[in-house]
Amino acid sequence: MAQKRPLVVIVGAGFGGLRAARALAKAPVDVVLIDRRNYHLFQPLLYQVATAGVSPGEIAHPVRGILRGQKNLKFRLAEVQSIDFSKRRLVTSVGPQDYDYLILAVGGETNYFGLDSIARNSLTLKDLDDAIAIRNQILRSFELGVQEPDPEKRRALLTFVLVGGGPTGIESSGALSELIRLVLIKDYPELNFKDVRVLILEATDHVLAGFPKRLQDSAAETLWNKHVEVRFGAMVTDFDGKRIMLRSGEVIPAHTLIWAAGVRAAGMLNSLDVQQASNGRVVVTPTLQIEKHPDVYVIGDAAYLEKDGQPLPMMAPVAIQMAEVAAKNIQLSLQGKSPVEFIYKDPGSLATIGRNAAVARIHGFQFSGFVAWVVWLAVHLIQLIGFRNRLLVLINWAWDYFFYERAVRLITPYGRHGIEDVSPSEETAGDGDNRHSRPIRIKPKPEEDVLEKIGENS
Ligand SMILES: Cc1cc2nc3c(=O)[nH]c(=O)nc-3n(C[C@H](O)[C@H](O)[C@H](O)COP(=O)(O)OP(=O)(O)OC[C@H]3O[C@@H](n4cnc5c(N)ncnc54)[C@H](O)[C@@H]3O)c2cc1C
Repeated sequence: MAQKRPLVVIVGAGFGGLRAARALAKAPVDVVLIDRRNYHLFQPLLYQVATAGVSPGEIAHPVRGILRGQKNLKFRLAEVQSIDFSKRRLVTSVGPQDYDYLILAVGGETNYFGLDSIARNSLTLKDLDDAIAIRNQILRSFELGVQEPDPEKRRALLTFVLVGGGPTGIESSGALSELIRLVLIKDYPELNFKDVRVLILEATDHVLAGFPKRLQDSAAETLWNKHVEVRFGAMVTDFDGKRIMLRSGEVIPAHTLIWAAGVRAAGMLNSLDVQQASNGRVVVTPTLQIEKHPDVYVIGDAAYLEKDGQPLPMMAPVAIQMAEVAAKNIQLSLQGKSPVEFIYKDPGSLATIGRNAAVARIHGFQFSGFVAWVVWLAVHLIQLIGFRNRLLVLINWAWDYFFYERAVRLITPYGRHGIEDVSPSEETAGDGDNRHSRPIRIKPKPEEDVLEKIGENS
């Protein structure tokens, strides 16, 4: 009788989990890959879904399609709820799952730093639901704004505030401003676009932390040129759905707040009896194992490891490189050899600020403007999974570039939450109510939703 092969269970089919699964394709192990969604999401282009540039299906790919043909792998659609390390068993939404080795690649989630009103009333950008909700909110705000007779209420509807000057805030605000100034301006000829504002509120005195100062300044200047107001030292403390409160006491009337100010490790890690760093990331050894449980590896956004006294960033290259090392260490363990340490090779960083504008720090070189933008386009296109997706995104980008268009300007019934379809007078009536006191559409069955959204417009 054939001997049973060791079973490696990977939780999460994001950048880390997917790479780990592939790296184990020829190893003498069986692999079970578990994810609560059936697709791999290319998060770096989520903001383009949110700003009507690309369709959800163009940046997501079914996991079964990606790993089709990998003979030692099974995919399981399930949510992992907890782990019994002593029994080497996962508790999942579809029942228990045993393992010999475990790779936790569960990624991160939005960090609201305990600001409940913001968690309740703001929008965020982490999954397709979020991106579609933002797109709906922007377009619906214009539909309501164009019908709103009261100028103050109209301005509040048409004020879009992004909190956080990191790559997500920068890229989203640049794309949003261009959607407004280049495309929506043609759709809403009766609207005075002086009423429309896009703001970034950043608590520190710079955008793009981690980039060299020259590129930070260049990014801020480009944003101003693209009609994005960048406010430094602006700390948001409260948002009731209609007014944003700053620590300084200033109040900004606005119906849309997009929270891009923080990420923490996935919530399921909090249920484990493991050492966690301040943002919930699990502290791992330099070989990416949990010290007390050497058969468990944690990688990507979920893992906390320092380089030169600083935590490794929550970025895709970290997750991908960690995945390779975790897969290698499992194979070394099977051969009775010692594991190798993880050494991060920083490939650099890129951020785009709309048409013809980006900043790049690559292998010691710093540059901005058109060349950086072309590099950004090429890098993101290459990294997208699937020839079809690459082709569709390329066509979309070319179309938008030459014709100043955004094809996916659709208000759909999908998305996490957003302004409902109410008349302007209802929408703007009363003071102080938040988004959740209005009728809100929250789709009750996320699994079904996901399938619909993936196919949406694709
Ligand atoms: C809007 C946005 C833009 C970004 N842009 C960039 C960029 O330009 N460049 C860059 O390098 N990085 C970028 N990042 C960060 C990058 O996406 C992450 O660092 C990377 O995805 C981390 O990979 P991961 O494998 O750790 O987690 P993820 O890719 O997030 O994957 C985690 C997976 O685990 C699954 N999962 C979570 N919990 C459970 C559970 N309990 N049970 C089952 N499955 C679970 C999730 O469904 C998900 O599929 C961006 C992130 C966001 C949100």
